[in-house]
Amino acid sequence: MKCVICHGDDIKVVDVKEEFVVGNDVVFIPIKVPVCKTCGERYYDRQTMRLLEEIEEKLGNAQVDLKEVGKVLMYEETNRNV
Ligand SMILES: [Zn+2]
Repeated sequence: MKCVICHGDDIKVVDVKEEFVVGNDVVFIPIKVPVCKTCGERYYDRQTMRLLEEIEEKLGNAQVDLKEVGKVLMYEETNRNV
């Protein structure tokens, strides 16, 4: 399998975290996906795409169990007045 972006052939299945933004929150979904080591392009198969779509839908309906692993922080405008 060659990468369609950079034509490299160093594509390996690795653990990645997909990110979904839900309101002010970010939800990470750990999945395994083939990734081009040269340019970072991710290759999702149909099954993975469907899984992610299902999860995204459930997230919208708040039908999933989530574990808090960190905070999402916003840089305040007031810091720029210094
Ligand atoms: Zn590539």
